[in-house]
Amino acid sequence: MAPMHIKLWGVRGSIPSPHHTNTLDRKSRQLMEGFFNAGYSSINDIDAYLANAPGHLIHGWGGNTICLTVQCDDKTIIIDGGSGIRNYGYELMKGPCGKGEGTVHIFMTHVHWDHIMGLPFFLPLYIPGNNIIIHGVESCVGGVFEMLFQKPFFPVSREMIGATISFQQLKPREAFTVEPFSITPYLLDHPDPCWGYRISNGQHVFSHCVDTECTRMTRKALGPDLPLYQNTDLMTFDAQYTTKEKFERASWGHSSATLGLDLAIREDIKKVVFIHNDPTAEDEDIANVERETRAYYNKIIDLTKRYKQLVPDIDWSFGVEGQEIVLS
Ligand SMILES: [Zn+2]
Ligand SMILES: [Zn+2]
Repeated sequence: MAPMHIKLWGVRGSIPSPHHTNTLDRKSRQLMEGFFNAGYSSINDIDAYLANAPGHLIHGWGGNTICLTVQCDDKTIIIDGGSGIRNYGYELMKGPCGKGEGTVHIFMTHVHWDHIMGLPFFLPLYIPGNNIIIHGVESCVGGVFEMLFQKPFFPVSREMIGATISFQQLKPREAFTVEPFSITPYLLDHPDPCWGYRISNGQHVFSHCVDTECTRMTRKALGPDLPLYQNTDLMTFDAQYTTKEKFERASWGHSSATLGLDLAIREDIKKVVFIHNDPTAEDEDIANVERETRAYYNKIIDLTKRYKQLVPDIDWSFGVEGQEIVLS
């Protein structure tokens, strides 16, 4: 079976969050100070320095809102149409979509702004002959284009979209097939109904669990939605808040990385990538949350070793825009 590739086109929550100019100034200064403090002085040393420079000073985590692709061989499905889908649209235009011969499947979790705002800028929509199929559990997902292209909110009217657009309503907790993928929606915990997806290609399983507050944590409380988390190779999880913020912002619909780790440890999830970062979080803040999460994880490992309990090793990280994770 071919590997499954999961690519992150947008990892930010709530609203696109470009760097403030002051932030860029600060980062440039910190990088230059780091360069000279490390003993480098030549232009030829730049690559060596950058290879070990902290990630939050170089690429950061990215500012586009949620959009992911799942690819196996030459088949790809998209999850959500946040601002990250714009860049994926440019990629698609290099293939059949650029000639009006493409078929695109977009699986929507829900229609909060941060998950739909990139759709008007998704170029394959404007090429006659392309076939765009929008999938979702909630019936309101089908009307998203009617709403987005209403004048005077956008200069292009719905009638000017050249591609054929259709809506495929999914049944809760029932698998839907787009070969080679089997895609099953499960309910998450969010202020408006939001559906996570368990996606299998017959060998690898990827579960997308964003946006969710995870108010139902026990297996019993999760009930029919528990399979979303079971026998999973990779989980993308909502880590908008720090652990402290998670409790301060109860009912806001988002979670924390530490909660995601609890779930992953209990359900033996092999790999976890945390996304949906808070728009107010600077890259340094996300680096701090990463440290907080590392301390929490190490503490669990130490405790369980002390009591001679076995805890599975979890390969976890905070996702970076543009990153590709391969399940092989
Ligand atoms: Zn969101
Ligand atoms: Zn939401």
